[in-house]
Amino acid sequence: MDDAHAVVVGAGIGGLSAALALHRRGWRVTVLERAAEPREIGAGLTLMANALHGLDALGLGPAVRRDGAEAPGGIRDRQGRWLSRVDGAEMIRQLGTAALGVHRTTLHRTLREALPGSVLRTSAEVEHVESGPDRAEVRYRGADGPHTLTADLVVGADGLRSRVRAQLFPRHPGPVYAGSTTWRAAIAFPEPVPAAISWGPGAEFGMVPLGDGQLYWYGALNAPAGGHAPDELAALRKHFGGWHAPIPAILAATAPGVVLRHDIHYLAEPLPSYARGRVALLGDAAHAMTPNLGQGAGQAIEDAVVLGAVCADGAEGVPAALAAYDGQRRPRSQAIARAAHTAGRYGQQLRNPFAVAARNTALRLTPGRAALRGMARYADWRPPAG
Ligand SMILES: Cc1cc2nc3c(=O)[nH]c(=O)nc-3n(C[C@H](O)[C@H](O)[C@H](O)COP(=O)(O)OP(=O)(O)OC[C@H]3O[C@@H](n4cnc5c(N)ncnc54)[C@H](O)[C@@H]3O)c2cc1C
Repeated sequence: MDDAHAVVVGAGIGGLSAALALHRRGWRVTVLERAAEPREIGAGLTLMANALHGLDALGLGPAVRRDGAEAPGGIRDRQGRWLSRVDGAEMIRQLGTAALGVHRTTLHRTLREALPGSVLRTSAEVEHVESGPDRAEVRYRGADGPHTLTADLVVGADGLRSRVRAQLFPRHPGPVYAGSTTWRAAIAFPEPVPAAISWGPGAEFGMVPLGDGQLYWYGALNAPAGGHAPDELAALRKHFGGWHAPIPAILAATAPGVVLRHDIHYLAEPLPSYARGRVALLGDAAHAMTPNLGQGAGQAIEDAVVLGAVCADGAEGVPAALAAYDGQRRPRSQAIARAAHTAGRYGQQLRNPFAVAARNTALRLTPGRAALRGMARYADWRPPAG
C-alpha cells in the first residue's frame, strides 16, 4: 500500500478501535486526543457478542476476555424476583460468545497498547476539519501551539459533543437530554453476584462482575438535567437502600469518592450520513445512544471494523469507501439507537404502577429463549469477511 495517512480525532474506545482497524490494514495513523492523558471515564462496561466479535477481528478478543468476566445477565424487580434470565450456555450457542463485563480502563489500555506508541498525540485539540477532492486537512492546537495535518482520511471519533459532526452538519441540533441520570462505580466486591439489572418505578440498578473480585454497578433514575446532590452516594442509598440484596451491601461497600454521576444525552435526530468526502463519523459522534441496550461502545467497535474493511485498499477511492461505510453502518446503528431509546422508556423510565405491573407480568411470561432472541437481534453481528 502507498503511504495512506488517516487522522483519527478522539482516543475513546471508538477512535482507538478505528486507529487499530486502519493500522492493521496498512494505514499510517495519527490519533489526536485533546486530553493530556488518554483515559476512559465511567467505571465498567458490558460488551455484547457483536462487540466481542469486533474485538476478535481486531486481534484483541483473547486479551479482553482474559481481563473480563462473563455476564449473561437478566432482569429482576426491586424485590429481586427474576423477570427474565438469559441462559449463558444458550447465549454462547446462539451468538458464538458470552457477554462480558470489563473495566473501561482495562479495555482502553488494551486498545492503546495494540497501537504503536507514535500513533497517539495527546493535548491535541482539533479545531477544524476540511475535506478536499484529493486530501483532507485537520487543524489542531497542541501544547506548543497550532498545527495542520493533511490526510487521505479523517475519522471524527470525538464523542457525544463532536466538533467534527458540528462541522459536517452545522444544522444538526446535537445531543438532547434523555430524562435520566446515572451514577456509576467499579468497586472491590468479592461476594459472587449474578450480572443483572433490577427495575423499580422510574429506576434501574445494574450490577456486572468484572472478574478478580471487582464489580461494576450503576443506578439510573428519572430526574431533571443538571442535578447534583451534596453527597451523591447518600442520595443513592436513600433511593436504592431498600432494594433487594446485595444492592444495599454494594452501596455500603462503595467509597463516596469513586461514584460518578452523568446525565444521559443522545442524538434524538439521526444524522443523514456518517460520511462527507474524506471525513467519516464514528461511535458517539455518529450515533450517541441511550445506554439501555449496552450497545454504544459495541456499535463504535463495529463501525471501526467496517471502516477498516472498506478502506482496505488504502488512499484510493476513499470517498467511495466511506459511502460504503455509511451504507453498512447507518441503518443498523440507528435502528439500535431507536431500540435503546424504546428499551429505556419501557424499562428504566417506566413509572406508572399499572404499566410497571403489566410489563413485569409480560416479561415473566416470556420464555427465556424468546428473551434471548430479542437480545440476539442486536448482538448477533459478525465482522465482514476478508
Ligand atoms: C451510563 C452509560 C453506560 C454505558 N454502558 C455501556 C455498555 O455497557 N456497553 C456499551 O457498549 N456501551 C455503553 N455505553 C456507551 C459507551 O460508553 C459509548 O458509546 C462509547 O464509550 C463511545 O466511545 P467514543 O469513542 O465514540 O466516544 P468517547 O468515549 O466520548 O471518546 C471521544 C474522545 O474524543 C476526545 N475529543 C473530543 N473532542 C475532541 C477534539 N476536538 N479534539 C481531540 N479530541 C477530542 C475526547 O476527549 C474523548 O477522549 C454507556 C454509556 C453511558 C453514558
